[in-house]
Amino acid sequence: MMMRANEDVRHVVILGGGSAGWLTAALLAREHHAGEPGGLSVTLVESPNTPPIGVGEGTWPSMRDTLRRIGFSETTLVRECDAAFKQGSLFRGWMHGRSAAEGDQYRHPFTLPLGFGDVDLLAGWLQRHGDRPFAEVVSAQPHVCMAGHAPKQASTPEYAAVANYGYHFDAGKFGVQLRAHAVANLHVRHVLDDVDLVVPHDDGDIAALRTRHHGDIAGDLFIDCSGMASVLLGKHYGIGLHSVKHLLFNDTALALQVPHPAPDTPIACETIATAQPAGWTWDIGLHNRRGIGHVYSSAHMSHDEAERHLLAYVRASGGTGDQPTPRRIGFDPGWRERFWHRNCVAVGLSAGFVEPLEASALALVELSAAMISDEMPATRSDMALVEKRFNDAFTYRWERVVDFLKLHYTLSRRDDSDYWRAHRDPSTQPERLADLLALWRHRAPYRQDFFRIEEVFPAASYQYVLHGMGFVPEPSARLRHPSLGEAAEPHFRETAHLARRMLGALPLQRSLIDHIRAHGLPRG
Ligand SMILES: Cc1cc2nc3c(=O)[nH]c(=O)nc-3n(C[C@H](O)[C@H](O)[C@H](O)COP(=O)(O)OP(=O)(O)OC[C@H]3O[C@@H](n4cnc5c(N)ncnc54)[C@H](O)[C@@H]3O)c2cc1C
Repeated sequence: MMMRANEDVRHVVILGGGSAGWLTAALLAREHHAGEPGGLSVTLVESPNTPPIGVGEGTWPSMRDTLRRIGFSETTLVRECDAAFKQGSLFRGWMHGRSAAEGDQYRHPFTLPLGFGDVDLLAGWLQRHGDRPFAEVVSAQPHVCMAGHAPKQASTPEYAAVANYGYHFDAGKFGVQLRAHAVANLHVRHVLDDVDLVVPHDDGDIAALRTRHHGDIAGDLFIDCSGMASVLLGKHYGIGLHSVKHLLFNDTALALQVPHPAPDTPIACETIATAQPAGWTWDIGLHNRRGIGHVYSSAHMSHDEAERHLLAYVRASGGTGDQPTPRRIGFDPGWRERFWHRNCVAVGLSAGFVEPLEASALALVELSAAMISDEMPATRSDMALVEKRFNDAFTYRWERVVDFLKLHYTLSRRDDSDYWRAHRDPSTQPERLADLLALWRHRAPYRQDFFRIEEVFPAASYQYVLHGMGFVPEPSARLRHPSLGEAAEPHFRETAHLARRMLGALPLQRSLIDHIRAHGLPRG
């Protein structure tokens, strides 16, 4: 170890060719000059026998920045990965288990409310517009989504937005395109082989990965992107999983792909999350099909029953013809007790997974890859410092993901199953969330509730979900003070004005996607 402490970190080896592996490989190669003299060398090994998981089709707006950083064209994403634009999530049936027509729906748009942090939007909404959905009063984006409009125009350059957006795309095709880009343009060395053994140094660091046909692949830093198998961190190092099944109960998903009935079927602008008796269904609109799935707790519902609910959803939402048998994916909600150990760091499913609600998994991949790239240790001895910072940052982030996801469940008043009643049980609430909910009885969430730079979910997201779910603070004298309503009103007027302007200027999502497929977008 003493010998290696001052050795430069020059060769990064990534195990796994799913979205996590290729995004990380591309970012490191691009930002550390792979293929140039003095640049980092990046090798990715993936098994020809274990395909990537093939789900993970909804992203956050952060993906735009990631694609820009790795130089991956948005036009390619739309043309080759069947991508469409995602402007947030639409939640149905989460409050009472009723239908959208009965008012049981709300939106969590990606755009921050106008005036957020400058005026008390909560007080203004309660005083002057409390009869309308919070999100529709404070943001123009719900109006854009309701009308099926795209978040940008045909002349808006790649990655740039009129309204904030992420993507819905075909995860399998995304992996293939990322690989092509990383290998052809970014000098990532690709080895298609199974890793059967980890070759250690005497001190316990990893020296190399032994492959079946390509010998040993040596490296200085190893990134475990091997999916749920967690070959390096979980299996080799025995780092256990910190389970959160007692807080978030879902542990199984059924996934299907459903073609659009006609080539001109409108493409939804949001992920549609519909609550079910023991979980929820996702509905993700791409150019040519929808990705639909049911994620549920197997302790509360049998797989057969879950499949019946999924197929009933598909039929009720316009799916036609016979549906193929859904694919079943089991998972243990939680994350590794540490993510970086010695000269190995896990990114993606090998680091953890809690459930697909609010699509935070790829965002955590992007944050992990970015932190590894930004803080790439120069030498082996620097690695110990980065390891500590990384573990601290990502333990905090995973905990905040659980808080935010649990918020969706704990505020529900559904009483139709043990599942929903158990979600309301205070013993299944994370402590920090319980404290914040107590504070929010008298005031709105604000920035200082989430004080780290690059919080996974900002205070505004909490506010959209809180008030969307019908949570209204107790009417304190402060919240009733008329000056707060007066100060907020100009922002509400401006929001309504902006919504009208956007509806006049933005094309329908389907027409923009068709346009991009035919003509492309201006380069960003
Ligand atoms: C039901 C479900 C829905 C989801 N929905 C979303 C969503 O909407 N949004 C979102 O952000 N995320 C979502 N996710 C998470 C998302 O799918 C993953 O974060 C993402 O796909 C990254 O996966 P991965 O690359 O870590 O693993 P995988 O795709 O599983 O890739 C693992 C790779 O490791 C390789 N490998 C494994 N063992 C070996 C070995 N011994 N030798 C060589 N290679 C090996 C495999 O060949 C493969 O290439 C969802 C997950 C699930 C389960």
